This record gives sequence, structure tokens and C-alpha cells, in this order.
Amino acid sequence: MDIDVIETIFIEEAIDDHPTTRHILKSLPRAQLIAISRYQEIFNKRHQNFRLQKKNPCLILARKHENFVLPAPAGFGMNSNLNFYFSHMYNCIYDCRYCFLQGMYSSAHYILFVNYEDFFKAISRTIEKYPDNSLTFFSGYDCDSLAFEKISNFANHTLDFFSDHPPIELELRTKSIVTSPLMKREPVTNCIVAFSLSPKKIATILDKTAPSISHRINALKQLANAGWSVGLRFDPLIYCADWETMYSELIAEIMHDLNPRNLHSVSYGPLRFPKNMYKKILTLHPNDKLFSFPMKEKAGIISYGTEIEELMSKFIKNELNKYTTQNKIFRCAV
Ligand code: SF4
Repeated sequence: MDIDVIETIFIEEAIDDHPTTRHILKSLPRAQLIAISRYQEIFNKRHQNFRLQKKNPCLILARKHENFVLPAPAGFGMNSNLNFYFSHMYNCIYDCRYCFLQGMYSSAHYILFVNYEDFFKAISRTIEKYPDNSLTFFSGYDCDSLAFEKISNFANHTLDFFSDHPPIELELRTKSIVTSPLMKREPVTNCIVAFSLSPKKIATILDKTAPSISHRINALKQLANAGWSVGLRFDPLIYCADWETMYSELIAEIMHDLNPRNLHSVSYGPLRFPKNMYKKILTLHPNDKLFSFPMKEKAGIISYGTEIEELMSKFIKNELNKYTTQNKIFRCAV
């Protein structure tokens, strides 16, 4: 979806004069504005239809009151650092078939929490709480880190904050090719811009409305050439006919002329869903080929099963070993 065509913005009365609200409203001058008291009046009410709303989502501007910083779920971090995430936004302008957000929320509207200053206060408190640990903060868990940047300007503020905290790592995870806010500034050495990638043929079918893989590869190389640290995220790995050739060609294309010094890390992980989320997503796409594979359940997680996961992991790891060092390669734990 093109974010310029957002037709309706719901605004919590308490933040209607917040500087971020004013900035956002200037970017969307044609939208109809509707005052609300709390975002829950509109978002995630029962009997909403995620697929229907996804066709024409509204924007909701709200204040976040708690849970600014949370421990990252298992399998999200790269190494033994303490990993946290923060979500200034719920939902995403893209529409990937496997996206867990459609299983998490009943509503496809975009919520943007405009009190950015409270996120940075909470991140500061977390840093102070763990003075002897190396910490990584992830943005983009409940949304895409950069896709909405033209309107939100959140990554820009986040980079300002983390520039002042060089020992603390920040990961921006994205499928977007919105690189201009980053290219305009000097690389922030403790920031990793991590791109989610799949073979072209798979992405064309599953990453609905996200930028093409060629564009994503161009964007990540542009950033790496400008001195930014980039990450590669092959997660979820999709099992299908000819997957070995497709993943091998994708990895070769990315690694060709990518300066290894600017490659921070590569991670990969199998397609997996918590059981209840899988059931919910299945009801949204009952005839989708992705969900017609006989999946297996283990400890409440639905996946391709150990045999296929091990086969794919081993193959991907071998391919990556051709181009980069072992210490940069991570398998996302389930
Ligand atoms: S880019 Fe990420 S958050 Fe957005 S729809 Fe795709 S999987 Fe979901």
C-alpha cells in the first residue's frame, strides 16, 4: 500500500497537539481526521476482519503508556547479548503471506505511538540497569523499521539516540528500500540495517507488496558502500521445489561485490508459527499453497519438522561458509 493514500487518521485527544502528531499530519494533509479517546475503541475490537481492513487501513495516532522495552523473543537475537525490542508501531504496510502480525492482531489498521521520547527514556533506563552487559535493541518486531519512515521519522530519532550510546547495538529490520534517511547522515557504527530476504521467485508470491528482491539487494549494497553495517536475514526459509538452487543463487548474488567488512551478520531460520497463531492465519488463507504442506507440531510450534529444517539449515550454512566467516553466521533458535 502507498502510505500517501491513507484516507483516515484517528487521533487520541491526549496527543492531538504532540509535536510528532503535528509532523505526521503535515505529511498527510488530505486525510480525514477523527478524534478518539483511546485507540482500543478502533483497534483489535472483536469481529474485525484483518483481510478486509488490509485493503484500506486507517492510521491511528496514540500514546503508549507501558511496555516500551521488552525482552526479545527467543530466536530473535544473534548471540549471547541481552536482547530487547521496542515497538513504536503495530502493523505493516506490506502484506507477507507468512507474517505473524495477521495472527496476532484482529485489526490491520496501523497504530503509531507518537510519544517517542518515552521510548528513549525507557531504553536509557534499561541501559543503566545492565551496565556490565552488551545489549542489543531491535526495532521492527511489530512493524517494519523503515517502511513508514517517510511519515513517522522514528528511525531518524532512534539513530540520534543510539549515536550517543556507541557501545549499545541497534538493529533496524526491514524489507523496505527507504534508504534516504540513512544515506543523508554519517553511518551510525552501532546500528545494523538488517534486510529480510528470500529467493526472487518465492518473494514474488509471498512478500506481497514489499519491494522486489533486486531492489532490496541494491538498497543493502548502497548502504554497505556508504559504510553502514548490514545484516542478512533469511528467515523464514521456505521449502519448495528447487529450493537449493534458488537459495544458492540468492546468496551468490548478494555476496558478489558486498564488502565483507560491512557485513555484520547473517541469520537464517525455518518457517515456524506458534500453534494458535498458525490456526488463525490458516483461517485467513484457507486455500493458500504455503499452508497446504503437511506441517508438523512440536512443543506448540508448527513447522516443516526436524528433518526438513536440518536439511535446509545445513545447506544454507554451507552456502554461507563459502562467502563469510563462521562467527558471522547464526541460526535462529526456535
Ligand atoms: S515486512 Fe515483516 S512485518 Fe511487514 S508484512 Fe512482511 S513479514 Fe510482516
